[in-house]
Amino acid sequence: THEKIKLLTILTKECSLVMENAMLYARLRRKHLSLEKANREIKHLSRTDSLTGCYNRGYLNEVLPREITRALRYKRPLAVAMCDIDHFKKVNDIYGHQCGDEVLKQFVKRILELIRHDTDWLARYGGEEFLLVLPETNLGNAFSLADRLRNHLARRIIETETHQISITASFGVTGFHASHSDSTISPEALINTVDGYLYEAKTRGRNQVVSGPYPN
Ligand code: GH3
Ligand code: MG
Ligand code: MG
Repeated sequence: THEKIKLLTILTKECSLVMENAMLYARLRRKHLSLEKANREIKHLSRTDSLTGCYNRGYLNEVLPREITRALRYKRPLAVAMCDIDHFKKVNDIYGHQCGDEVLKQFVKRILELIRHDTDWLARYGGEEFLLVLPETNLGNAFSLADRLRNHLARRIIETETHQISITASFGVTGFHASHSDSTISPEALINTVDGYLYEAKTRGRNQVVSGPYPN
């Protein structure tokens, strides 16, 4: 009947509206998801060192203060190790800058293989110098880990496409346990202290770990 045709026409229009809305929603959701993915990617890139893939200085500046605050608040230990490749300038001079880059990449890869990924993290502090941050770790254990890393790096030759290169690295290590102190600790002061121990490792002949308490 004429009435029924009219009713069917209205229903068809309603149905097509619902379908259109559903398709629009699906399209928006896809866009939203890819935007979220792009944002995650941007965030990852902004905190990563582009050559080695470890964290960069920006991440260090952002997160180290939080690690210190957390350790002080919950009275937990925190240790840091600064490591620097020995005579790295020579690697560049002898084998070329590209080879030097490859050595840096593999150096970081080896360190990352040996640290605990749930808590420990590594950031490129500058050039061929890296800071390892070790939450929940006392000075003795931090020294042992640094010495294991030092040994591992010294024993394994790095193979690039063109050369086989031996490197060593020196480490400074320091840390604190806040259980008996409620003072504040600045990231700069902690880094200055660990830098001092690294300097000592260099002057004592390199390829070694020097550790000491914070403050020294
Ligand atoms: P030391 O044992 O005292 O640390 O000596 P060193 O030669 O390692 O130290 P120095 O500070 O004299 O030289 C560091 C070198 O690291 C010089 C610089 O060109 C090189 N370097 C820094 N960043 C990079 C990089 O991204 N790629 C390459 N290939 N070399 C780099
Ligand atoms: Mg060096
Ligand atoms: Mg250096």
